[in-house]
Amino acid sequence: MSKRDYYEVLGVSKDIDGKELKKAYRKKAMKYHPDRNPGDASAEEKFKELSEAYEVLSDGDKRAAYDRYGHSAVDGSQGGGFGGGGGGSDFGDIFGDVFGDIFGGGGGRGRQQGPPRGADLRYSMELTLEEAVRGVEKKIRIPTLVSCKPCDGSGAKPGSKPTTCGTCNGHGQVRMQQGFFAVQQTCPRCHGRGQVIDDPCNSCGGRGVNEETKTLSVKIPSGVDTGDRIRLSGEGEAAPGGGQTGDLYVQVSVKQHAIFERDGKNLYCEVPINFADAALGGDLEVPTLGGRVKLAIPEGTQTGKVFRLRGKGIKPVRGGSIGDLLCKVVVETPVGLSAEQKALLAQFRESTTGKKHSPKSSGWFDSVKSFFDGV
Ligand SMILES: [Zn+2]
Ligand SMILES: [Zn+2]
Repeated sequence: MSKRDYYEVLGVSKDIDGKELKKAYRKKAMKYHPDRNPGDASAEEKFKELSEAYEVLSDGDKRAAYDRYGHSAVDGSQGGGFGGGGGGSDFGDIFGDVFGDIFGGGGGRGRQQGPPRGADLRYSMELTLEEAVRGVEKKIRIPTLVSCKPCDGSGAKPGSKPTTCGTCNGHGQVRMQQGFFAVQQTCPRCHGRGQVIDDPCNSCGGRGVNEETKTLSVKIPSGVDTGDRIRLSGEGEAAPGGGQTGDLYVQVSVKQHAIFERDGKNLYCEVPINFADAALGGDLEVPTLGGRVKLAIPEGTQTGKVFRLRGKGIKPVRGGSIGDLLCKVVVETPVGLSAEQKALLAQFRESTTGKKHSPKSSGWFDSVKSFFDGV
């Protein structure tokens, strides 16, 4: 499913400021809020879309990433945003802030019991072909949530502890009477965690996590290719309430190279040669990723001929033999000839006329002749 532009979803212009953005979101979100449209699936869809758009655009870093790279920059592998957890505390904060005054506080959205797992993060890394082939160590900076140090991730002021929620007795769920039905709902007081913080930590405001840009050193193994993914376990976002930290996925893409084209473990390149060299044969200098090498071509080499240099390709990241370098020679017609050179060529043409010096065209003329004979 292709996603709509976030600005379009919120019906705002691209240069809107934070305050106006919030206003626009509030207005639209109220209209489509599930509590106001019970059982209306399309309203719920719209509400989700709005929330997602607002979550990204209301965050400076995410908005900048979205403006530059579009949806792919902010789509997490688990449906959360770049740095935004699916069902994490971010949503709760926006929700409480926007709806607290209308719906009496607290989110009506379901949450799993206990501390949720931190969101996975995705980082797109572009490598040159040389880097991908040889391997490289890269420093990357990623905005993420890290466990709060002063409170050790608990959210409670150092020296105090979170206490069992009295509203749900630590279950995280409460039964509510709605018309004829008794429904199980996420506890509005503890938001499903089963615990509440009476004395929140000053550093994180009770969330247990802080936003931080962390610098990581990522080792890229040799032989990686576009589409390969490197998982850094536990380098994703920390989870509020001491849940498991998410993972970081580094998504590799390899840039186009000026000389080489890659196909798996093999490399291809084109080598232009002049027609005298092609006719007489000789040593040719060809490029490899390890430097120049000599390639002996036999006399009478035709254009398009491919020479295979074994072991001059790529060693695949998942093991196996090293690939080859395939060099295709392209014979070039000389240009910008002097009068003297032209005279020499004319002389050369004269000397070859009527003789079998062109294997392909001899065969070609024979085919043409037999074609017309058959008509
Ligand atoms: Zn509770
Ligand atoms: Zn804290």
